[in-house]
Amino acid sequence: MIMHIISLGHDVFKENNKLAAKNKEKFRKHDVFAVNVMGAIGSGKTTLIEEAIKSLQGKYRLAAIAGDVVADMDANRFAKLGIPTIPANTGKECHLDANIVNKSIERVNLKDIDILFMENVGNLICPADFDLGEDMRVVVVSVSEGDDIILKHPVVFKTVNLAIVNKTDIAEAVDADADKMVSDIEYLNPDIPVLKTSKKQKETVDAWIAEIEKAYLAKVGKKAWPVFMKTRPFPGGSSSFPAEDIKTIKFKYLRTLVGLLSCKCRAEAVMGALVA
Ligand code: MG
Repeated sequence: MIMHIISLGHDVFKENNKLAAKNKEKFRKHDVFAVNVMGAIGSGKTTLIEEAIKSLQGKYRLAAIAGDVVADMDANRFAKLGIPTIPANTGKECHLDANIVNKSIERVNLKDIDILFMENVGNLICPADFDLGEDMRVVVVSVSEGDDIILKHPVVFKTVNLAIVNKTDIAEAVDADADKMVSDIEYLNPDIPVLKTSKKQKETVDAWIAEIEKAYLAKVGKKAWPVFMKTRPFPGGSSSFPAEDIKTIKFKYLRTLVGLLSCKCRAEAVMGALVA
């Protein structure tokens, strides 16, 4: 006897999309730029996020959700850098979903966050189907996964705004052609930027960070202000602005003021001499 077919998948995605829309609205309301970083285990997601945190944290207020089936090693790596971090253990699930993100963002103050990193569970398949309400979807693939990995997993590459071929420094050692991987991604999704990165080549990591900043500024409609313009004026509350930088800025202002005053004095002295 054939039982009724239960179309579970349809309902799951419908519910997920409703919650994703709610997340998106919350992010919009508070000018939070949310980045969903997907990729297999060992592709280098955590390291790339760490590098982005180190580079952007003096300039913007950051937070992270670290998705993992179990354990909190990645969450600890982000928390060590001094940003609010929510470990999101999914249990048996192989992906983050909008509900987990919804619950996670209840634990932070969105009005105090500019950029939220969401490291998805290490998997190249399941995360592709779930909208989290993010602004930027990124996939990281390592050359160590083999240069035929992309065409075997087309879905995730078609859903992203940015793709990264990582660990290119070891491509030769693992007999992988990084350029083939780039062209496979371009074949699947011709409209997105594709970066080749290696932690050993700083400029390649900088290019990934620049993509985040560019997209964040495009969302909130701001130009890249100098660091001191981003922060609130010496708040009593929460600011990630390091104290030593505030001292540096105060010193710079003081030096400029002294410079202007001494110019004015010199000008007055010259005028006085001319009149005399
Ligand atoms: Mg990780």
